[in-house]
Amino acid sequence: MKAVVYEQFGLRPELQTVPDPLPEADGVVLRVEASGVCRSDWHGWMGRDPDIQLPHVPGHEIAGTVVAVGAGVTRWREGDRVTLPFVSGCGRCPECQSGQQQVCRDQFQPGFTAWGSFAEYVALRYAEQNLVRLPDGLDFVTAASLGCRFATSFRAVVQQGRVRGGEWVAVHGCGGVGLSAVMIAHALGARVIAVDIGADKLTRAAELGAEVTVNSREVDVVTAIREVTGGGAHLSLDALGHAQTCADSILCLRTQGRHVQVGLLVAEHSRPPLPMDAVISRELEIYGSHGMAAHAYPEMLGMIESGLLRPDRLIGARLTLEEAIDALTGMDSFNALGVQVIDRFA
Ligand SMILES: [Zn+2]
Ligand SMILES: [Zn+2]
Repeated sequence: MKAVVYEQFGLRPELQTVPDPLPEADGVVLRVEASGVCRSDWHGWMGRDPDIQLPHVPGHEIAGTVVAVGAGVTRWREGDRVTLPFVSGCGRCPECQSGQQQVCRDQFQPGFTAWGSFAEYVALRYAEQNLVRLPDGLDFVTAASLGCRFATSFRAVVQQGRVRGGEWVAVHGCGGVGLSAVMIAHALGARVIAVDIGADKLTRAAELGAEVTVNSREVDVVTAIREVTGGGAHLSLDALGHAQTCADSILCLRTQGRHVQVGLLVAEHSRPPLPMDAVISRELEIYGSHGMAAHAYPEMLGMIESGLLRPDRLIGARLTLEEAIDALTGMDSFNALGVQVIDRFA
């Protein structure tokens, strides 16, 4: 099969021909029909993920067709159209046993703990518990775009954030995760404030349902949000993963507001100083959100099928496998609007 392979961190990947994968006993092989290109792939390529062993194939936002099934897998057959959470739970550990597969202690992550979907085929472990059947009306490209950013936002807003209609929700950072959060919170009846440094991203956030936009280059974010909301947001998300957006997200909350950390904090940003004085005095709640378990997908897929959520509106460029190399390596310098998806692999 063809695959995008890197031999060293930070060295340009190449399109190579490598052996087709075989399914493990607990796994399947998918023909990849669509694969998102995500900033986490870029972090991995830069050598910031200790799970990655070289040489490596990135890609964790996956939609595809089952073409081979392991001996121990009973629920899935060749021809099934599926996607999966980028954190796939083992099904055996205490977290998985209690339904919290997104924080499994022995997780399988395609594109990190194993070769991913920048390839014609991908082998997936733990298929029985983690594959999600696609509704007939959901195309592969849209399904792939749910993989990490949209599903992660859904859990952050709906499950961890417990958003309610009429609440003020602040979203700090309007990349893929942030714009998804804007759409989801708006669809659930919240009043959304989008924060970013890019005017084009704020325009996009407004199109997707943000009632208020705040350019953090031009005004003090916390003051602006506390003013427009009459005391602070009920729920706020750091959708970027940066010391400044994290602190702003906590400080813009009203009394007993909820902060959800959904943007990954990596490398030098991994341990930001936090305004814990405000957490105590205003009794703020702080949550993390890390992917979303397969069993939680039906609620999200139902809202997509009904048209309430339109993840297809977040899709940007469609790429060939070869074009994905430039998309990956240019991720720090070229700020693409929307979710880039590979949809041609031959
Ligand atoms: Zn991702
Ligand atoms: Zn587990």
